[in-house]
Amino acid sequence: MARIVMKFGGTSVANIERIRAVSAFVRREIDAGHGVAVVVSAMAGETNRLIGLCADAGPPAPTLDARYIEHDTVVAAGEQISSGLLALVMQNLGYRARSWQGWQIPLKTSINHGEARISEISDSAIGEAMDGGEIAIVSGFQGIAPTGRISTLGRGGSDTSAVALAAAIGAARCDIYTDVDGVYTTDPRLSKQARRIAKISYEEMLEMASVGAKVLQTRSVEIAMAYKTPIRVLSSFDPPDAPGPGTTICDEDDIVEQNIVTAVTPDFNEASVTVLAVPDEPGRAARIFTRLAEAAINIDMIVQSASREHGFANISFTTKEDYLERALEVLNSDKEAIGFSSLQSDRNVTKVSVIGLGMKTHAGVAGTMFQTLADKGINIQNISTSEIKISVLINSDAAEYAVRALHDAYGLGSPAKPADENA
Ligand code: ASP
Ligand code: MG
Repeated sequence: MARIVMKFGGTSVANIERIRAVSAFVRREIDAGHGVAVVVSAMAGETNRLIGLCADAGPPAPTLDARYIEHDTVVAAGEQISSGLLALVMQNLGYRARSWQGWQIPLKTSINHGEARISEISDSAIGEAMDGGEIAIVSGFQGIAPTGRISTLGRGGSDTSAVALAAAIGAARCDIYTDVDGVYTTDPRLSKQARRIAKISYEEMLEMASVGAKVLQTRSVEIAMAYKTPIRVLSSFDPPDAPGPGTTICDEDDIVEQNIVTAVTPDFNEASVTVLAVPDEPGRAARIFTRLAEAAINIDMIVQSASREHGFANISFTTKEDYLERALEVLNSDKEAIGFSSLQSDRNVTKVSVIGLGMKTHAGVAGTMFQTLADKGINIQNISTSEIKISVLINSDAAEYAVRALHDAYGLGSPAKPADENA
């Protein structure tokens, strides 16, 4: 009997009707003879509602303190409700099922509440229950900190709960059910040409998740890659007796047909900051980025350019929009020591990334990207690269246009449909 993990996101458990649909997907795997653990998110909108209640009660402190711990106590409740409801529905259908909260497994985490990392998952109790024929219905997103308090894994953390559980119980695969039927070459809302990717490597999926493709939490892909757990992304809105093929996320060696570029991914949640006229001498950049790091502000693209004034440089970087105000405050509070003249910031910027394993071996991918944008008259503000990704920062007003143009330029569009299919 193979063990498998099935994970259902918020829209898949949005109400009792949707939870009944989930039970049909679970039944299918049970009938196929698998031992099943189901990981659930909170019902759609519930985590936001709970975070709102915490905010009404008093904003959580940015550092670890009592209020942040209680914040986790509150927001983890969303998953507790869905796991209990799905267990009830399965029991009413005559199955043996029980809910598991993070602390009951236990799924142990680090102490950083709100963004805790999984440190250990015990497979003994849950594995025994599964081997005894019981369906394990697990609350995603939550665990237990070394202090014994409830912790949460960061937004989208149920994906990570599911993949880590799959690795811990030696599951043959982890199926992530969501409201889209797979991972796409680009956001289908931006381009009608977007098409479902049948197979994608862990590495590419990791880059996509880290630049803001919302399908999977980045950490979940890291874990899948480390433990070689195959993931499938499937739609819980497909009929349970005939689900679509979805997208398989696997080792690059298991992908026969490899494109040079696999996806074009925009990230609208970027903001840029330029620190103007910083003295061009050792230690200034270090000071800027150390201050930002101390304030737990994540930085992405960094560019330094010589300023018109001799002996000075301008340093630009990007960060998430949510961090922008804090970044400006932190830098302004250290203005004397850094020695800059002023700060400029811009929220109206988007990072567009092209991602593909083929870049390792093929030249010209960057050239095509820059030429395509130049032909469309789109100005590039920043550039950054990794081995399998090139990102540019552009004005948000041009972002959709740029995504479509790049998607075309790398030939990612769907083959033209026959005329009658469009009629
Ligand atoms: N409910 C949590 C969230 O909305 C975790 C998850 O759904 O993955 O972020
Ligand atoms: Mg999610």
